[in-house]
Amino acid sequence: MTIFEKIAARQIPADIVYEDAETIAFRDVHPQAPVHVLIVPKRVVERVGDIQDGDAELMGQLLVASQRVARQEGVVATGFRLVINHGRNAGESVPHLHIHLLGGRPLDWPPG
Ligand code: AMP
Repeated sequence: MTIFEKIAARQIPADIVYEDAETIAFRDVHPQAPVHVLIVPKRVVERVGDIQDGDAELMGQLLVASQRVARQEGVVATGFRLVINHGRNAGESVPHLHIHLLGGRPLDWPPG
């Protein structure tokens, strides 16, 4: 099991802020902004480069969950960023697809 599957199964603790049938969202353990939540599909897709045609609905559900978390966290009016890291150059460290939701402060562009 991936570390995120273990969080979804309540085998390891996390600050869970949202859950539905297909997705779960919890606060990043090393937050990079006042709001830093990871939105994760319960079914494992390793990374963006591994998405298959049959994953299209699940990917849409991830975005729907992301906007729900953004509203819940109160960052829609001020702005927020969604980030998905793929592979070494992007700094991917957990091989279980996840969207970073970052907000609560101005975010530089381009990212580092
Ligand atoms: P990435 O580098 O895009 O693969 O992002 C992985 C993220 O997972 C990092 O921001 C980590 O801080 C975060 N992370 C790793 N383990 C945990 C955990 N047990 N609970 C919450 N966040 C975690």
